[in-house]
Amino acid sequence: MTGKHIPLRKCVGCGEMIGKKGAVRVVRDKDGNVSVDPTGKKSGRGAYICKDEKCLELALKGKKLERSFKCQIPAEIYEIIKKELTADQ
Ligand SMILES: [Zn+2]
Repeated sequence: MTGKHIPLRKCVGCGEMIGKKGAVRVVRDKDGNVSVDPTGKKSGRGAYICKDEKCLELALKGKKLERSFKCQIPAEIYEIIKKELTADQ
């Protein structure tokens, strides 16, 4: 567990570090556009949510993404995240 650099990803929902089960990445680019990033390759400020609907719900209720990005998150973004969460189940 030591030595290698492993980027830690903290879930904005449950607040726990995200392990192998994976996460959905949400990105806010420099123009302030928020989008879901399934490939993890978009540039910008990222936030992560566990692939768990409970975490999405927590993020939604607590306005965690809004706080993280300091901007409004369109409802459609949450819809897209939800689709990502359920895509590979
Ligand atoms: Zn979580």
